Amino acid sequence: MSPDPTARPGLYLHIPFCRRKCPYCDFYSRADRVELIPDYHLLLTRQLELFVAEGWDQPFETVFFGGGTPSLLSAKQVATVLEAAAAEPGLTADAEISLEVNPGTIEASDLSELCRAGANRLSIGVQSFDDARLRQLGRLHDAAGAIGAVDQARRAGFNNISIDLMFALPNQTVEELEADLGSALSLETEHLSIYGYSLEEGSAWAGRPDRAPVDEEIYARMYEILHERLDQAGFRHYEISNFARPGRECRHNLGYWRRRPSLGLGAGAHGFQASGWGRRFWTPPDLDRFATALERGENPAADLECFDREGAMREYVYLALRTADGIDEDEFVSRFGIAFDEFFSEPLQKLSGRMEREAGRWYLPWKSWLVYDRLVAQFL
Ligand code: SF4
Repeated sequence: MSPDPTARPGLYLHIPFCRRKCPYCDFYSRADRVELIPDYHLLLTRQLELFVAEGWDQPFETVFFGGGTPSLLSAKQVATVLEAAAAEPGLTADAEISLEVNPGTIEASDLSELCRAGANRLSIGVQSFDDARLRQLGRLHDAAGAIGAVDQARRAGFNNISIDLMFALPNQTVEELEADLGSALSLETEHLSIYGYSLEEGSAWAGRPDRAPVDEEIYARMYEILHERLDQAGFRHYEISNFARPGRECRHNLGYWRRRPSLGLGAGAHGFQASGWGRRFWTPPDLDRFATALERGENPAADLECFDREGAMREYVYLALRTADGIDEDEFVSRFGIAFDEFFSEPLQKLSGRMEREAGRWYLPWKSWLVYDRLVAQFL
């Protein structure tokens, strides 16, 4: 039994460069190595060739350029990577091809060129529509720039656009959040990713009490507002932090939550191989090692974790419960050869009243996502 061997893999490309480091961010991205950008696509295609030589032969169903700031790559560089993937191992005819874009890092002409190169979904890093807040967050754009980026993307031909927002920011009020939501909705995008802010250890703000998120009670109130307003506006709250119009869920990210295979390329990228009970690997977040290894013809990727059956079941549940669809009983049996409620009868008893079961699916109702970590710990 394997982790869904019939599923087509996704391809993730990590672009670890930013113009400036935001003080709340702990992602692997470098503002001091931008001189490496012009040749970075060549390293990505070289790493892809090495994976293909090692046996990655399934066409990709989704592609996601994430970062960092993928829009620092030129449209030509993106096109080169897509052409390489299309040549081998291939892209499915209806592949979803997403790119994260930060307003202020891309021109209208680049967006048109990206569209011609095959990109068909944009995820625009707006974060807030409040200029003072954007300055505090260290972002390079203002609200007008964010609105302009969505407008330019539409004109360039993108009909699948997502906006990233943040909530629970230091001292944020419910009114500020409501204003942000109103601005976001007025742009009529197909998708919204709205992340609860937290103070990260590895960020420049670490250790600053004045940069703490809002308290738990306000956080819960904000989460409720997000759910209710977006539900009324026709968005489905399909994952803890993600909302989509019907049929516009991010297929690439659904692949992660369904524990489907994914190839990660680039310094700091993660991947998942479906052989056996599954194997997670990554390319260490070190641009110099990444470049040096590839120049020597070696793949810098390394194993992170190999799963046994029980570990695979636990991870499957942990990921699936992030989504509104939750756990499909039939799929669980076909993957693992045992019923979900048989293997996990004890945690299910402890979570009685918290989990719901409907039409052959077990899931956490959205309000339970507020305490997701505490609840899923029962399955780990
Ligand atoms: S938040 Fe985004 S733009 Fe800011 S430093 Fe992190 S990856 Fe770069």
